[in-house]
This record gives sequence, C-alpha cells and structure tokens, in this order.
Amino acid sequence: MVLGETPERVTTPPISTPNSNLGISVGEYRSSKLKGRQYTLDRDLCERIVSYNEFMQTNKRVRFICGGKIMFGPGIIFPLIVTFPLITVPSGFHFWLHWNDTPFALNVFTIVLLSLIFICMFLVTFFDPGFIPRGTGKKGDPPNGATVTCATDTDLWKWCGTCKIWRPPRSKHCRTTDACVRYFDHYCPWMGNTIARRNYRPFYFFVIFLIMYCINILGQTVAYLSEEMEPNARTTYHIGLVLFCLAALGFTSLLFYHLTYNIYRGLTTNEAQLRRFDYGNDYGYFGNVPAFLCSVCPSQITN
Ligand SMILES: [Zn+2]
Repeated sequence: MVLGETPERVTTPPISTPNSNLGISVGEYRSSKLKGRQYTLDRDLCERIVSYNEFMQTNKRVRFICGGKIMFGPGIIFPLIVTFPLITVPSGFHFWLHWNDTPFALNVFTIVLLSLIFICMFLVTFFDPGFIPRGTGKKGDPPNGATVTCATDTDLWKWCGTCKIWRPPRSKHCRTTDACVRYFDHYCPWMGNTIARRNYRPFYFFVIFLIMYCINILGQTVAYLSEEMEPNARTTYHIGLVLFCLAALGFTSLLFYHLTYNIYRGLTTNEAQLRRFDYGNDYGYFGNVPAFLCSVCPSQITN
C-alpha cells in the first residue's frame, strides 16, 4: 500500500468455510492496487493467551515484574514524580493544618478516601489495560490498515501491521505502549498507562474519589477559615490549599462529566473524538451504565 493511501473499507458477509467454527472468514481488499485480492480474517489470533515473558519478547516498552503480577509502561515516571506528589503533598499540608482540631471520625474518613484514591491509581497504573498479544507475521499478510467488516457495519476488523493481528472492533494500537488494546479510550500520562477495557472502571472511580476528596478538604479548610477571627501565620497555607483544591476540583469535575457522558452513550473517548457514534449504545442508554459496572475482561497475559 502506498504511504498515506486510505484503505477502502470492504463490507463482506462472513463466508462459510470449514474453519468458520474457529472464527475464520474471508474478506476482499478492494483498493486500486490490490483489487480482487482475498485475505483470511483470523479472529482467533487476537484471542491468544501468552505468558508475560512472551509478551515482553515482542514488546519492548511494556515491562512485567514480580513474576508477571505487576506491569508498567514507558510513562511510569510521570505518575511517580508528578501525580503522586500532587496528591500526597497537599494531603500532608491538610493533616498538618487540621489534624488536631478535626473530629477523629472526619480524619478517618479523609484517610479512607485517600486510601481508595491510591488503590484505584495502583490498579490503573500497574495492571494490563487489555493488551492484545502480537501475532507472528507471515508472507502475504494484508497491508497495514486493511479493513473488513463481517455481519454488521460496526463489526469492523482492522489489520495491525505492527502487531500482525486482525484487531477486533473498538480496539486501537496505542502508540505509547506500542500494543493493540481492547476498547482503547486514551493514553493517560497522569496515570502512566493506557486507559482501556480492563482499567477504565478503576480510572472512573479514581476520578470520583478524587472529587469527593477535594470537596472534603475544601469544606474542612473553608470551615476553619470562617471560624478564624484574625489572620495568623498559617492563613496563607489555608488559602493556598483552598486555591489548589478549587483548581483540582474544576479539572476532575470536567473529566468526570466527560467520562460519565461517554459511559451513558456507551462510547470510548477515542470513538467520541472520532464521532464514531455507531459504536455506542450497545445496551441502550439505561443499560450502558450497568454493563460498564458489571463487565469482566480477563487478561490475555498470564503469569
Ligand atoms: Zn497493534
């Protein structure tokens, strides 16, 4: 395929073959240069389960440690030196300013919220977001970006020339982690990982707990300031904390609105940006949210 050429989309009903039980069907590529050429759509190739060692042999950007239990991508430094301190430093200030004059139960509530934030962050950053292991290329593979649809228009399979697999519908090759990911939403530098099928839920709850945490700190600080009769040496710290919480609350609230609206529509951020609305609403507007909360997707990378 000529660089920059847009592959023509081909709508081909699945052709019944002896291999059809294995998820194999045949498509036809119809670009001007490859018109009439047929290729096999092997769905099973993207369902393979591999060991973490095999995954690392074909992907040099994603690393596994602790016997494959913990994963991290190339952007791991950013959340460790920016996101984590952005949460812990203001929290430290808050406890330093308010610990003694805050009811014990409220301090416990703040610590529980903070712990939930870190648990969600850990689940998002250090686990497989839904990577699809690479296949082994062979002679006669389709050109990169070749597409074929089977049965329905949204059942679009695309050939990934890097991973050598037919990528399932709603997946995308993440350039940062250099791997195809199921239900690619976006790459989040704040979390240092791709947000996709397997970590979208903890990411969403991370945002919810962060909003609750900001409101909690903001409320406690404003209440303290309103009771203070005269400014003292610590007043500047209180005002700084209020301004920081307001900025964080604004940012996370916008993100919450955006994520919630997409979950309601059944879309990923990537699909919403590309205006691929035909992919959404799999379960109806009122079914999308429960489907999102209850869905399970096992990892294809094992210990
Ligand atoms: Zn890929």
